[in-house]
Amino acid sequence: MRISQIGEFGLIDLIRSRVLSKDRRVLVDIGDDAAVIKPSEGKLLIFTTDTLVEKVHFDLRYSTFRQIGWKAMASNLSDIAAMGGLPKFALVTIGLPKSVAAENVISIYDGITAIGRRYKCKVVGGDTVFSPKGIFVSIALLGEVEKKFLVKRKGAKRGDLICVTGDLGEAQAGLEFLLRNPRRKSSLTRKHLTPFPRISEARILLRILKVSSMIDISDGLSSELFHLTEESDLGAVIYQDKIPISSNCKKAGRLLGKSPLLWALSSGEEYELLFTVGRKKLPHLKKLGRKVKVSWIGEMVAKKEGVMLREESGRKRKLTKMGFKHF
Ligand code: ADP
Ligand code: MG
Repeated sequence: MRISQIGEFGLIDLIRSRVLSKDRRVLVDIGDDAAVIKPSEGKLLIFTTDTLVEKVHFDLRYSTFRQIGWKAMASNLSDIAAMGGLPKFALVTIGLPKSVAAENVISIYDGITAIGRRYKCKVVGGDTVFSPKGIFVSIALLGEVEKKFLVKRKGAKRGDLICVTGDLGEAQAGLEFLLRNPRRKSSLTRKHLTPFPRISEARILLRILKVSSMIDISDGLSSELFHLTEESDLGAVIYQDKIPISSNCKKAGRLLGKSPLLWALSSGEEYELLFTVGRKKLPHLKKLGRKVKVSWIGEMVAKKEGVMLREESGRKRKLTKMGFKHF
């Protein structure tokens, strides 16, 4: 049924029936003018928002409605991960053209609640608006963090090691496959469509290491590096051969005639974590191996040295916020 037939309130009732679940801390849930939540004692609040717009962030040719919901939550969850916190409550604002079927809106919410359950985050409200051109999903997410675990973009010291979780470039490889064949399904396309933000990984890191700064990779490794160096007033050197690129991603590069290294440097939406730790933590980093995949990829240097990529030969190239500077 089209949403024009069931109307705004019919739709909100449907949404409400899909997302409702008990939580002791939610004193007033969906259905009132606003949600009311009992705060945890002794924790700091983290508040973030992220929006996905049709044709800008997703395309219905290769993305299902469920995947749109999943990803809209994932990008918010990743921001909470990057601060060291745990997600708690979400408000979902959805913009819909009149032609959208109610089932499809429900599918968006099924994606939202599926990833929400996984990361223990509950929808407590939102807003439903008409959008003349295309769908958008905007989520505001409330999380919590203990003061001792809070980690910012700023805080790295000269000589700190630069590390990254997981593998890089896969989400971009997946997108390139989807652009060629919207029906393609593989671990790479899944990484683009339904990413898993690194919430629990971040918590493990923060327990074991003293992380000095952290950011999530939503705009690409090289851009995020600039954020970290600018915030801490430093430079950085990355070792090309240490950037984690999976064999799957390399194979995709050969198949598509693209550079996996360039993907790894420029691909956003990886939702991995880029962070720095003091050099003394190197033995701890090695111990992490079995719990969280972490690669040591470079180090923070003096600001005047800029942000550089060191090739295996030892030659250094300047990185730009976009990725490579070709000579
Ligand atoms: P108001 O006009 O006071 O803003 P609404 O009719 O927009 O109220 O919303 C009524 C209730 O439904 C509120 O609790 C609101 O949070 C919830 N709600 C509205 N739209 C959505 C949505 N898209 N997702 C989740 N909850 C929603
Ligand atoms: Mg409203």
